[in-house]
Amino acid sequence: MDVPPPEVLSLPMVVPSKTLMGPGPSNCPPSVLQALSLPVLGHLHPECTKIMDDIKAGIQYVFQTKNELTLAVSASGHAGMEAVLCNLIEPGDKVLIAVNGIWGERANIMASRYGATVHRLEAALGTNFTLTEFEDAIRLHKPALLFVVQGESSTGVYQPLEGLGLICHKYNCLLVVDTVASLGGVPFYADRWEVDAVYTGSQKVLGAPPGITPISFSSRAQEKILARKTPPKVYYWDMTILGDYWSCFGRPRVYHHTISSTLLYGLREGLSLVGKEGIENVINRHKMCAQRLHKGLQAMGLQMLVAKESARLPTVTAVKVPENIDWTVVTGYAMKHYFLEISGGLGPTANKIFRIGIMGYNATNDNVDFVLKVLEEGINYARENRS
Ligand code: PMP
Repeated sequence: MDVPPPEVLSLPMVVPSKTLMGPGPSNCPPSVLQALSLPVLGHLHPECTKIMDDIKAGIQYVFQTKNELTLAVSASGHAGMEAVLCNLIEPGDKVLIAVNGIWGERANIMASRYGATVHRLEAALGTNFTLTEFEDAIRLHKPALLFVVQGESSTGVYQPLEGLGLICHKYNCLLVVDTVASLGGVPFYADRWEVDAVYTGSQKVLGAPPGITPISFSSRAQEKILARKTPPKVYYWDMTILGDYWSCFGRPRVYHHTISSTLLYGLREGLSLVGKEGIENVINRHKMCAQRLHKGLQAMGLQMLVAKESARLPTVTAVKVPENIDWTVVTGYAMKHYFLEISGGLGPTANKIFRIGIMGYNATNDNVDFVLKVLEEGINYARENRS
């Protein structure tokens, strides 16, 4: 052999048990972990396609939609972003992107690569947009599509969406929403709010592993996809074929790719748990935990990045790093002593904030109290050990 077997692979794999309270992934509930160890099946075996149908119903529930073009794409949250933009943008289309953090920036890059003329609506870090700002920008730029992030996880900002679909449709514009970090932590109604395309992360509130991304398109969006003059640029995201793989158009199922049956089991179990608890109860649990966390952080004398209370995302809290503290010492302390993940900022918030995630299985009072205790200890430790 030209290349010998790597010696590292003969050593045992190291996977410690950690408490994941960053912006995702969150810890999988035990029943999801059990589901992940079930035998791999063929992707077109009837048991597997039945699980795909179950998942489709579960996704319709969590998005609150009856959209027939509802499925899960085989990759992480970025794939949701790629898939909606790839299918809904034709070269030369005008697109409006609301940018108040890293996820709007990323959608901007993707939309440009798919040939869109991108206009940006910007808000300061830690703030969200008003309906009037959206309407003024749509009236000015006349975009074919507006992209909005409901939960900007790089800043912990929540974007209310009620009424936005109506405005978009008044101007013949499709509404695309990223709910990767927010779904299940705040209300979301795809049909009631007239959202045309939405995707979320499996690894956040839904408690499944990353790598499989729920996505849904309204009939309006579906019409646009079916009327495209050019096929979507990426075959892997092409909803006209993926839709048949997920049996969305009432036609026989057609092979598109080998979906991971293992990830299907995990996602089905995560969705099943949400259904059993009731999504409204899941949302309320996140709200109560976030209130407890925010109260605790303020009692410690820490400052929230998002000044307006109503603009704070329950699932990801951004709290400012105190003056003269090295945030990596604090997060390092939490990991070293407690195997607890607390994150730093991302993109424009790097070095400025801690991000604390409360998502899914981790959204409990005990976990909130744990993270508060460790954060306080870590900050004290960083203060006493300044270089
Ligand atoms: N959008 C938002 C709002 C996110 O928080 C994330 C991930 N943190 C993504 C998109 C991308 O998801 P992934 O890392 O699963 O690709």
